[in-house]
Amino acid sequence: KAEEYLERIEKNKDLNAFIEVQKERVLKEAERLEKDEEAKKKPLYGKIVAVKANINVEGYTISCASKTLENYVAPYNATVIEKLLDAGALIIGITNMDEFACGSSGETSYYGPTKNPVAKDRIPGGSSSGSAAAVSAELCDIALGSDTGGSIRNPSSHCGVSGFKPSYGVVSRHGLCDLAMSFDQIGPIAKRAEDLLLVMNIIKGKDVRDTTTVETPEFKKLDVSKFKVGVVEEFMEAADEKIRKEIEKGIEVFKDMGCEIVHLNYKYLDLALPTYYLINYVEFFSATRRYDGRRYGYRIEEVCGEEVLRRITIGSMISQKEYSGKYYKKALKARNLLRKEMIKLMKDIDIIVSPTVPKLPHKLGEKLSPMDMYNYDVLTVLANICGVPAGTVPCSAINGIPIGLQIMAKPFEDEKVLSAMIEFE
Ligand code: GLN
Repeated sequence: KAEEYLERIEKNKDLNAFIEVQKERVLKEAERLEKDEEAKKKPLYGKIVAVKANINVEGYTISCASKTLENYVAPYNATVIEKLLDAGALIIGITNMDEFACGSSGETSYYGPTKNPVAKDRIPGGSSSGSAAAVSAELCDIALGSDTGGSIRNPSSHCGVSGFKPSYGVVSRHGLCDLAMSFDQIGPIAKRAEDLLLVMNIIKGKDVRDTTTVETPEFKKLDVSKFKVGVVEEFMEAADEKIRKEIEKGIEVFKDMGCEIVHLNYKYLDLALPTYYLINYVEFFSATRRYDGRRYGYRIEEVCGEEVLRRITIGSMISQKEYSGKYYKKALKARNLLRKEMIKLMKDIDIIVSPTVPKLPHKLGEKLSPMDMYNYDVLTVLANICGVPAGTVPCSAINGIPIGLQIMAKPFEDEKVLSAMIEFE
C-alpha cells in the first residue's frame, strides 16, 4: 500500500503538497510493520499519515516552510507523532504550508504554493495547505495540521475534506513550532470524520511536556438526533449569499435528523478578527525571538517572507510598554468578553452550525490585501479565541469548488462536534 501512495505522490508532484518524502525510509518502515504481528492489532495499522512541516518528526526537515529553518532536522518526535507511531501508523512525509503557519491561502511557503486538487486554478486554503491537499488527492489517509485561527478548517473546507480543531488543551503541542501559544492546537484532517474520531482518541491526553493539556474521557459517537443545533444570524450573514444558501441546505439536513434548530444572536463578531490578529502578532513576535541565527538556521528577519515580517514588526511595536495598554491589553479584554458571550450563547444548545469560510477561494496568484486575506478567517478564529472544539465537513460545492460547514461546541465537548460531523457526511 505504501508503494501505491508513494507513486501517487510522485504523479501529483505538481500539487506541491509535500515538502519532503523519504522514500527508502517509508518503504523500510512499511516492510517492518508488515512483518510485525503485534502491529497488525493496533488501531492505526495500515493508515498512511502525512504531517505538517511545523510538527517535529525525527530525521525530517521541519522547516515551517521558511528559509529560516531550511536546514533544521528534527532531533525528536512531537508527542502526537510518538502516539501515532505507537498506534501503528506509517508516516509518509512532510506537507507544505504557509510560512510559519501565517496565512489562509497556502501561497506564502518558501517552497512555493500548494495547488487545490479539486479546483486546480484556486488556492487550497491555509495554512495547513499541503495536509488538506494531500488528503483530498488521496496521497495519504490522514494528515496532521495545526490550527491557530482556522488553519485546519480553512484548507479542509476549500479542498473538500473534513478537519477538526480540538478544544484548547486536549492535544499536546510538545514538538509543535508555535505560532500563537494561546490559540494553537494540533488536529487531524481526513476524508471521513470517523477517522478523525479514531485519531483524536489516540493523540489526545495529558502530557507533562505541555502544561496546558488535560485528560479527557474517551470520545464516543453520540446520538445526534436529539441535539439542539444553534444557528447564529451574524455568522450566517458574514458569508457571501451563495455560500449562505448552501449552508442553509446543510442545516436542513440536521432538521431531517430530528434536531431542534435554535436561532441565536452573537453581537460581538466584529471584534473577532482585530482581537485575534493583535494577540497573534504579539505572541508570534515572542515565539520568533529564538530564530536569531545563533541556534537554529538563519536570523528570521533576514530571510522571511512579507507576511511573517509584517507580524514580527507590528508585534514588536504593539508589545512595547508605551503601546501595550492601547492594543495588547485591550485585545486581552476583548478576548475575555468574546469568550464569556460565547459560553453564554452555547448554554442551552449542543452545537453551533455555520459556514467555515465566508467566501470562495481566490484564483492562485491573485494578489489580495492583508485585510482581504484576514477576512477569510472571520468565522474560524472565534473557536480559537474561545478555546472551543470546531470541525468542518464538506457540505456542497459551487461550480466544483467545495463548501465546508463548520460545527462548534462547548469546551471539551469535542465528541459532540465529531459525532455531528460523522452523522452529517
Ligand atoms: N489565517 C490565520 C493566520 O494567519 C490562521 C493561521 C493558523 O491557524 N495557523 O493567523
